[in-house]
Amino acid sequence: MVGGGSAGAVLASRLSARPATRVLLLEAGADTPPGREPAEVRDNYYTAFYEPRFFWPDLRVHFATANARRYEQARILGGGSSVNAMIALRGLPGDFDEWIAAGAAGWSWDAVLPYFRKLEHDLDFANEWHGSDGPIPVRRHRRDQWPGFSQAVARYLERKGWAFVADMNGPVANGYCAVPMANTAEQRVSTAMAYLGEEVRKRPNLTILTDAYVERISIENNRATGVQVDKKVFNARETIISAGALHSPAVLMRSGIGPRAQLEALGIEIKTDLAGVGANLQDHPVVSIACHLKPNARQAESLRAAANAALRYDSGVPGCTGSDMYIAIANKGSWHALGRQLGALVLCLYKPYSRGTVSLASKDPQVEPEVRFNMLSDERDLERMVRAVRLAAQIYASPELAEVTNESFPTSFSERVRNLNALSRTNQLRAAAGAVALDGPAALRRWLLANVVNPGVSLAALLADESALRSWLKQRATGFYHPVGTCSMGSVVDADCRVMGVEGLRVIDASIVPVITRANTNLTTIMLAERMADRIAAAG
Ligand SMILES: Cc1cc2nc3c(=O)[nH]c(=O)nc-3n(C[C@H](O)[C@H](O)[C@H](O)COP(=O)(O)OP(=O)(O)OC[C@H]3O[C@@H](n4cnc5c(N)ncnc54)[C@H](O)[C@@H]3O)c2cc1C
Repeated sequence: MVGGGSAGAVLASRLSARPATRVLLLEAGADTPPGREPAEVRDNYYTAFYEPRFFWPDLRVHFATANARRYEQARILGGGSSVNAMIALRGLPGDFDEWIAAGAAGWSWDAVLPYFRKLEHDLDFANEWHGSDGPIPVRRHRRDQWPGFSQAVARYLERKGWAFVADMNGPVANGYCAVPMANTAEQRVSTAMAYLGEEVRKRPNLTILTDAYVERISIENNRATGVQVDKKVFNARETIISAGALHSPAVLMRSGIGPRAQLEALGIEIKTDLAGVGANLQDHPVVSIACHLKPNARQAESLRAAANAALRYDSGVPGCTGSDMYIAIANKGSWHALGRQLGALVLCLYKPYSRGTVSLASKDPQVEPEVRFNMLSDERDLERMVRAVRLAAQIYASPELAEVTNESFPTSFSERVRNLNALSRTNQLRAAAGAVALDGPAALRRWLLANVVNPGVSLAALLADESALRSWLKQRATGFYHPVGTCSMGSVVDADCRVMGVEGLRVIDASIVPVITRANTNLTTIMLAERMADRIAAAG
């Protein structure tokens, strides 16, 4: 097995539960040994996101423009589940109808719900929608625990007629909610923690090798015979690739499985001509309208975790499905003192129609693939983000928000913000000084926000000029770290995740998702790994 991330850790655990199946798990990143996981990983605030050593250092992507930008993808046991924001939303039933239409026969809502239940023990709800004894805890912050900014947004939404949805993983409903999280009150629970604990690791038929980077798959006569790690060859009867939506297609292409013209141009011997490898790349586009919080609205330091609230709604744009938009109500911008003064409405497009590509930049396995999202290239996507910015501005203009916020401003993930947020003593001190200054005179705060914290265009300027808003969105929208689709069921793998045209080879991870879910992707990835483990076991 290649990759011990959200999917790979689940598969290694479930498949090795049968003593007759010998499993070798090869993970490029470091181990997170049970009980000795790095503190940043355990933290139930996503401090791990700010620690570069848990990520692929050279990965760069293009969102909507020619500029190459950093894009965090995990390189650590547990993969994304060790570093992500822990939001535990399920895909919606209608998403799986789209999967079936794309060729993922058998992946209906009725077929996947038992696996969404199997993976979790929901700490808040016990009913037919939920599991009570799965490895991943799922919980929500009670409304009375929400900090002031989230409360104020909720009051506004309520006044505007939005319903409170107690369980966003229950029957589909739009409205605002407490976001389900995959953690306990004490710590994150990654798939490595949940599925590869002490007991599982004692199994004699399971070997986990970390810091093991798989360069390519060995293929003879259209059959995968194993993999190569730095000139070492590991043979296997069956090879499973779970390297994530950017690296799984890269491993396939380096091994000669992919679009013929592209591979031949790089001098790679073709094993199977599969045009779909690396195509159909999707992520949820995102930008934020952030704000400076008045002291009454800030999150108390004692509440480490992001007490997430959110709004799910229909964009109403013609030709778009319902529940296609999501606004995360973030009460804390980062781990440091300055971050605790910043809130944000994080505007996410949950059913994009734009599609991108992953292609090889070189046949050298040390070179990262070329990633182009073509984000917002579909007019419906751009239009929905325009409307989302206008909705956020309306929310900020309300009396409820005036009570808790000072200035609001448009922003997004950027290299500057990333550098300011990297975990370091210098950043801690710098942010503490910035926080004191921002709490000083209003004129100084406005100057600092516009010139130091977030230089660039103002929200008022964007609202006044539709073409400036569109061009800002194209410049600044990024992905939400939810890449999927690059080895899709129906075009690269069949509905049992077998690579078309090659025996003994499957891809099982986020890359097989043919159409992105209207939800963050971690739970869906764990679900699909759970379901495939059962299907592989049933096939013998
Ligand atoms: C910063 C961030 C925040 C996110 N926040 C959320 C969230 O809050 N909620 C949510 O639902 N989703 C979130 N996601 C997305 C979610 O974590 C992913 O959808 C999920 O982890 C995908 O699982 P995967 O198994 O496909 O890939 P991954 O979990 O990325 O696992 C792939 C693994 O393969 C390894 N690998 C890659 N190439 C090789 C190779 N050649 N040899 C050996 N090993 C290799 C990698 O090191 C990695 O460990 C976030 C992701 C990130 C990165």
